[in-house]
Amino acid sequence: MPFSYELLPVLIKAIDDTIENNAEEVTALDQAIGDGDHVTNLQRGIHALIPLGDELGRLDWSDAMQKIGMTLLSSVGGASGSLYGTLFISMSKAAKGRELTAETFAEAFAQGVDAVKRRGRAEAGEKTMLDVLIPVADSMQRAAKNGVPLPELLRLVEDAAVAGVESTRDMIATKGRASFLGERTRGHLDAGAKTAQLMICSVTAVMADRSASPT
Ligand code: ADP
Ligand code: MG
Repeated sequence: MPFSYELLPVLIKAIDDTIENNAEEVTALDQAIGDGDHVTNLQRGIHALIPLGDELGRLDWSDAMQKIGMTLLSSVGGASGSLYGTLFISMSKAAKGRELTAETFAEAFAQGVDAVKRRGRAEAGEKTMLDVLIPVADSMQRAAKNGVPLPELLRLVEDAAVAGVESTRDMIATKGRASFLGERTRGHLDAGAKTAQLMICSVTAVMADRSASPT
C-alpha cells in the first residue's frame, strides 16, 4: 500500500466527492440531533487539503499524516476538527521511521483511533464517529496481521464501516452535542459516524480499483 506520488491527491478528491454527493443526507442527520454544521466543518478541512495534494504526495507517509492533521486542526471548527486532527497526528507518530505496509498502516490507524478515544473521552457505543472508526481499526488490524490479501482486507473494512454506522441508529448519544437530547437521539444515525463511513468507503473504493488494475 505505497502512498505513490499521485495517490493522496486522488484520495482527497474521492473524499471530497463523497461528502459533496451526500451533503444533504448528512446535514439532515446532523440537524436532527446536532447543530447541522458537520458537512461544512468537514468541507473546510478537505478544501484546505486539496491545494496541498502534490506536496503531500512527495512526503514520507509519517510527514504526510502530520501535515494533514495540523491542517485539519487549524482549518476545521467543531468537535470533528480536533478529533480528525488528533487521528492523523497520532498516526504520524506511529508511522515514524516505519516502512508503509498494510500491517504498519493498520497499526498506525489503530493508534490514531485510540488517541481519538482519549481526546474525546469516548468509547464505542456512545453514538459517535468512533462507532465506525473502532470496528474499522479492529478489522483492518486483524486482516493485516493474518496476511489477508488487499482486496479482501478492503472488503472487510467496508463491511465494518457500514455495520458501524448502522449500529449508531439504536444508540443513545452520550457524547457531543447530541448527548443533550438523550433518549430522543434513538432512531437517528450519527452524522459523524456516517461521514466516517463515507470517507473510509471512498478510500477503499479507490484502493480496490488500483489493486484490481495495477499501473
Ligand atoms: P460539533 O459537534 O462541535 O458541531 P461536528 O458537527 O463537526 O462538531 O461533529 C459532530 C460529530 O462529532 C458527531 O456526529 C460525532 O460523531 C462526533 N463527536 C462529537 N463528540 C465526540 C466525542 N467526544 N468523541 C468522538 N466523536 C465525537
Ligand atoms: Mg455540529
